[in-house]
Amino acid sequence: MSILVYVENTDGQFKKSAFEAVSYAKAVADQSGNQVVALSIGNVEDAQLTLLGKYGASKVLNVNTEQLKSFVNQAYAAIIVDAAKSNDASVLILSNSFSGKGLAPRVAAKLNAALADGAIELPSATGENLQVKTGAFSGKAFAFVELTSTIKVIALNPNSFEVKEAETSATIENYSPSIDAEDFSTIVKDIIRATDKISLPEADIVVSAGRGLKGPENWGMIEELADVLGAATACSKPVSDAGWRPHSEHVGQTGIAVSPNLYIAIGISGAIQHLAGVSASKTIVVINKDPEAPFFKVADYGIVGDAFDVIPKLIVALKAYKE
Ligand code: FAD
Repeated sequence: MSILVYVENTDGQFKKSAFEAVSYAKAVADQSGNQVVALSIGNVEDAQLTLLGKYGASKVLNVNTEQLKSFVNQAYAAIIVDAAKSNDASVLILSNSFSGKGLAPRVAAKLNAALADGAIELPSATGENLQVKTGAFSGKAFAFVELTSTIKVIALNPNSFEVKEAETSATIENYSPSIDAEDFSTIVKDIIRATDKISLPEADIVVSAGRGLKGPENWGMIEELADVLGAATACSKPVSDAGWRPHSEHVGQTGIAVSPNLYIAIGISGAIQHLAGVSASKTIVVINKDPEAPFFKVADYGIVGDAFDVIPKLIVALKAYKE
């Protein structure tokens, strides 16, 4: 038996969430005395594949063909299912990323497996079953999901599990999955990247701003602060509705749910619908000129002040600190 973990890459580089998933898989494997088999799909160099061993993989299956260069949900799911079967996987772990959200239910259905999506902690074993703690209702509650099937699928929320080095090294195997032509009924012709910025759902630090910024012309300082911190930028819903920022930056109940280590909210009131998507952040810093702004109630640190005074000073201080 094995624990199979699917590791995502972007342009041949594994994402941080991939190493988190491998570390998580290693911890699950240690609970059950199994080994971790990592599955990589796409054009990834050996040095990157070898790195997976450092975090707990004993074997890396490398599927690298021209046809699979771009992500195709149907085909990737078929490969994961094939690898799970041929490696006798009892637990299958994926990151709960954009692609993971599409893959996990498809894979679970094909394997007749139970699925826990949005896992935030290691599972605990109850006999043959696994109990997994997941985030629910946009992070406002937790659910304890019991997986009772023979094969179990867990989709791990990004930034929920620490990347840990393990005393393992991985063998790399070129893997040729047996999949059907029908699995390629969707063909990705080209991918045009809209931005080179840090991906918001997986960012360690998020700098987010709201209507308090008054207009799109004032986002220069938000971008500069994000640059200094190596952060992704985000915004409240009215900001993206007004077209000040792209919809891809909208966080909250109706936008993206984020769980970074640090969330800095600037000129955002802290409406319940906004908090629904950000309250899983480890540390929240709020900058607002109104001391009664509801966001302060959930803040770890707060600055009562005008963003137009505070942010430029913060940028200067952070730059000085970095030097
Ligand atoms: P405002 O409420 O206008 O707050 C602006 C804040 O900026 C105020 O607190 C003010 O004190 C502060 N401020 C003003 N000037 C300055 C300054 N110079 N310096 C510092 N601070 C300043 N919202 C979301 O964000 N995400 C969602 O997913 C979402 N989904 C929704 C779903 C539904 C069904 C509904 C009904 C609403 C939803 N909303 C969502 C909207 C939400 O209710 C709020 O209206 C919205 O979050 C408010 O955005 P804001 O905080 O940027 O603006």
